[in-house]
Amino acid sequence: MQRIYFDNAATTVLDSEVLAEMMPYLSEKFGNPSAIYSYGRESKQAIENARKKVARILHAEPGEINFTSGGTESTNTAFSAAIHDLGCQYIISSPLEHPATLRNVEYFEKSGQVRVSWLKHDTKGHINLEHLEELLASTNQKTFVSLMHANNEIGTKLPIKAVAKLCEKYNAIFHSDMVQTVGHYAIDLSTIPIHFISASGHKFHGPKGVGILFTHNSISCQPFIKGGSQERNKRGGTENLYGVVGFAKALEIAEIRMQEESEYIKSLKIYMMDQLKHEFPSIYFNGDAEDKSLYTILNAAFHKTDKTEMLLYNLDMSGVCVSSGSACASGASSISPVIQALYGAQMKEQIPIRFSFSKYNNKAEIDKVIDIIKSAI
Ligand code: PLP
Repeated sequence: MQRIYFDNAATTVLDSEVLAEMMPYLSEKFGNPSAIYSYGRESKQAIENARKKVARILHAEPGEINFTSGGTESTNTAFSAAIHDLGCQYIISSPLEHPATLRNVEYFEKSGQVRVSWLKHDTKGHINLEHLEELLASTNQKTFVSLMHANNEIGTKLPIKAVAKLCEKYNAIFHSDMVQTVGHYAIDLSTIPIHFISASGHKFHGPKGVGILFTHNSISCQPFIKGGSQERNKRGGTENLYGVVGFAKALEIAEIRMQEESEYIKSLKIYMMDQLKHEFPSIYFNGDAEDKSLYTILNAAFHKTDKTEMLLYNLDMSGVCVSSGSACASGASSISPVIQALYGAQMKEQIPIRFSFSKYNNKAEIDKVIDIIKSAI
């Protein structure tokens, strides 16, 4: 059975050009980057070249780019640096965040190290900026704001510059989980007053198990992982050499082809939206699907019936890979906490399905999926 992969917000296939770039570092170029002989020096050089490449693309300094094991580690590190090293005692975040952020907020609150405020949002997932300003203005405590650049379930985008400027105005530390936007949008960190960003290679056709934490030059913090002197004394442990090389290559490819590929992927999203509206008039979309939203994600809300309850299962049986949007929801029956938080008391019964696209998808696949949904429901 030919599978159709519409779950690119969960992970993406490795680009063959990225694999080709990584291969030498999985075979003959195996030296430990800390070693002083030629094998080691070559590996070290590859890491530093990757760092420079990533810094150039994101308009940062090479010293601001720290390689990590992925988005989750980067976000954990930003939290502990903000609270332990920068003295933040107050966290402002949103209930719509990824678990990597939510679990950190809960942990630091439960352990009594911080107090927390949750931002108000509308039913499309837009953060209430007046509320953010109100909260920032009402405290003298050193504040840490953590808000994702775009939501991984519903696609709603944050007005990141406006948020960053508010944080700057009130002297707050600002972290953004940019896992769904780095590699998909042109990001110029020199124009955003931000302290930390998290990004992850496997969301833009790079390898899994590698990401970055951007830490602004003005930030000084303890080693993220104590051990050897790798990553300029910030993160001990022998580097993920081929992962780092792959991350930089994937980002470079994304940068070169961004215009063309983003337009193509957006056209797929719009096509799918139109087809769904045409075939299923009662359908609506979670998030701000037609406006300030990722071009990669379409979260469709099907009216709940016995048949739509089995939709995820039936799509899987037909070889279609989609998700309910929730990291923890494997069956059709558990509704994502993000969708619940989005609507609160206004929540209507629905079956949400997240379709997320990449450059490797096409309209014929969408037609096929629409046919499968039609016969399933
Ligand atoms: N943040 C967001 C918005 C994500 O979508 C993901 C991936 O699921 C993560 C963080 C975690 O990234 P990683 O898988 O690299 O740890």
